[in-house]
Amino acid sequence: MKNQLLIVGASQILTLQGPGRVRRGPEMRRLSILGPNAAVLIEGGLIAAAGAYRQIRRMARRARVLELQGGVLMPGFVDAHTHPVFAGPRLRDFSLRTSGLGYRAVSRRTGGIWSTVGGVRRAEPGQLAELLGQRARLFLEAGTTTIEAKSGYGLDLENELKILEVIGRVGRRGPLEIIPTFLGAHAPPPGGHRQAYVRLLIEKMIPAVCGKKLARFIDVFCERGYFSVKESEKILRAGLAAGLAPRLHAEQLSRLGGARLAAKLGAASADHLDHAAPGDMTALSRAGTAAVLAPASNYFLGARSWPPARALIDAGVPVCLASDFNPGSAPVWNMQFVMSVACTQMRMSPEEAVTAATVNGAYCLGEGRRLGSLEPGKQADLAHMDVDDYREIPYYFGVNHCRMTIKRGNIVYIKR
Ligand SMILES: [Zn+2]
Repeated sequence: MKNQLLIVGASQILTLQGPGRVRRGPEMRRLSILGPNAAVLIEGGLIAAAGAYRQIRRMARRARVLELQGGVLMPGFVDAHTHPVFAGPRLRDFSLRTSGLGYRAVSRRTGGIWSTVGGVRRAEPGQLAELLGQRARLFLEAGTTTIEAKSGYGLDLENELKILEVIGRVGRRGPLEIIPTFLGAHAPPPGGHRQAYVRLLIEKMIPAVCGKKLARFIDVFCERGYFSVKESEKILRAGLAAGLAPRLHAEQLSRLGGARLAAKLGAASADHLDHAAPGDMTALSRAGTAAVLAPASNYFLGARSWPPARALIDAGVPVCLASDFNPGSAPVWNMQFVMSVACTQMRMSPEEAVTAATVNGAYCLGEGRRLGSLEPGKQADLAHMDVDDYREIPYYFGVNHCRMTIKRGNIVYIKR
């Protein structure tokens, strides 16, 4: 007999029941909302049913009943882009930027990403696992039940493996589910040994990561001064050949051609896309490559422009929202804030923002059949929000509305 849990009393249940694939265009506005007389039945860690209480009651004779006093019940957030393994915050960068310096100018003064790399290289794996474990709690407390996590602050063989092993260890421990991405190509070493580093990535690092089965995806920071389109293609193809599916940081600071490359390789996602042109969007749409938008970094860096969500959705590109959690440009784990920025600055509707932060994130991580909506057979990953209407989640911004988080059918967080 499997454990049954029946959840009743929510004012709204967002099931996101849908076509069984990633959502595009107008499909992103359909949340499949159930009213106050609905219930969710969980059995053996999976969703058994979501629908009218009258109908579900019959299936739930052995169930423990969890009676909510209102609130919105929805799928846990699937955050498809984070950099969560680092030692400490970058407070000097932050202070300097408030005095008016830009991202690159600050990096020249403080070392930028290299100060984070130094911290990670000096840290013991145990320390990094402890820190990642604390951050995993924060994600869960904000209603996020799955994240993608990138390496990329080691930037040599030993330290990139160290980061991915830490991600694996903390992910296996749970309850936050963590999907690992190898981002050894986050930045080339200073001093101009780019070609040697690309060779090291292809000949040593990718085989080692795959040999130990430490990552599912491979990612490259395709940008002026980082990795060119040509180098990115070489690295991603080497990853593909070794069994790592590609994702790509593309067109974030300038338009270089990363989006076209992502489409050409059939990448799982092209991320940021601030400077993507209409033709890039058509290419992504045709390839079925998702756009992962991370507007919290625009917010934090004080940018005056935002990722072109409207044009991407209208072009038929599946759009996801992610925190981009990292110490340099987006120290935020709360997807509710990301949704708010998406609605107020990028003119996404609240419905599109919910879809982008849940089911579309799941599909773009290759887990859409298992995660991201409240449909029978899927894993029971839920967030209960302290609001009567889901639109209040992005409306009342800057706070954590999450009252309870459920992962694999177990309550893993309750607000005290
Ligand atoms: Zn990133």
